[in-house]
Amino acid sequence: MIPLNGGDLHINWQKELARAFTTPDALLDYLGIDPAPWRPGLEARRLFPMRVPRPFADKMRPGDIHDPLLRQVLPLGEEFAEVPGFVADPLEEHDSALPGLLHKYRSRVLLVLRGGCAVNCRYCFRRHFPYADNSPGREGWREALDYIAAHPEINEVILSGGDPLMAKDEQIATLLDALEGIPHLRRLRIHSRLPVVIPARLTGALKTRLADSRLQPVLVLHINHANEVDDILADTLQDWRRAGITLLNQSVLLAGINDDAEVLEALSERLFEAGVLPYYLHQLDRVQGAAHFLVGDDRARTLMARLLARLPGFLVPRLVREIGGEASKTPLDLGLEPR
Ligand code: SF4
Repeated sequence: MIPLNGGDLHINWQKELARAFTTPDALLDYLGIDPAPWRPGLEARRLFPMRVPRPFADKMRPGDIHDPLLRQVLPLGEEFAEVPGFVADPLEEHDSALPGLLHKYRSRVLLVLRGGCAVNCRYCFRRHFPYADNSPGREGWREALDYIAAHPEINEVILSGGDPLMAKDEQIATLLDALEGIPHLRRLRIHSRLPVVIPARLTGALKTRLADSRLQPVLVLHINHANEVDDILADTLQDWRRAGITLLNQSVLLAGINDDAEVLEALSERLFEAGVLPYYLHQLDRVQGAAHFLVGDDRARTLMARLLARLPGFLVPRLVREIGGEASKTPLDLGLEPR
C-alpha cells in the first residue's frame, strides 16, 4: 500500500540513484544471466554509459536476456554499426536559443533542467547531446526566465532534460515560483522517465506543489512496455491523478521490444488502469548507435491498424515522427478513420 502523502517513498529516491547498476556484468549477474556470450557487445557502454536503477531491474524477468525492459538498457554490439542516415543530432537540437532553453514550437519552450537521467535508454535521441554546453548556471536561468517573460506567445513551459525530475523538489519549487510570476504562462509540463525506473521519485511534496500551482500541471511519462508499470507505480500515479495532475504517456516504437499489437494493446490497457492516457507513439529518431531499434513505417502502420481494431480510440496513441526544424510533430498518415 502506498502512503497517501508519498511519505516513505521519497526518502530513498536519491539512494536508489546512487546504487544504480553502471556495468552490464553487475546487472546481468543480478538477473542470473551469464554475460560471457554477450561480452564483446557489452563494450558499447563506452559509447554511452550504462545506468539502470534497481527498481527497474526488479521489473525484468530473471534469466531472460530477451526481456523487453532489459533490451532497452543493455549495451549491445549493434550500437557500433555505422548506418547511413543515423546521426549524432537527428533533431538538430544542438544549437539552442539560450543555454538550457529550446524554443522549437511557437507557444512552448523547453527548459533543460537537468542533463543527466536516472536510466540511460540505448535508443535515446539525446545520447550525444552536449549537456555540458547547455547547462545555464544561475545567470543563465535568469536569462531563460527573461526570455520567456519577453515572449507573450509562450503559454507553456516544458521541463525536460535529460530528466527534469533529477532536480530536487526544492529546486523545482523555486523554478515554479518564478514561472508562476510570468502572467502569460498557463501550463507546466514535465517530461520524465524517472518515476518509471524509481517510483519513489513521485514524492508527496512534489505532488502537492504541482497540484497547488496556478499553472496547470501535466506529467508526461515515458513508458514503452506494460511490464514497466508495477502496482507501486500504478497506485502512485492514480494518487497523482486524483490530485488533479494530468498524466500522459509517450512511447517509442522499438524493434524487439514493443513492435507487436498485443504488446501495445497491453501497454495502453495498463496505462489506463494507472490513470494515464496514451499520447504519442514515436517513430525512432535516427540517432547514431540505435539503428537496430528501427521499425519501418509500413510495419508501424500495420500495427496501428491492428490497435485501432482492438482498442477504443482514446487508448490508441498517435503515431508520430519528429523532424528537425518542423514546427510540430508529424503524424504518420494511417489512411484509416479512428473509431
Ligand atoms: S530517460 Fe529519456 S532522455 Fe533519458 S536516456 Fe532515456 S530516453 Fe533519453
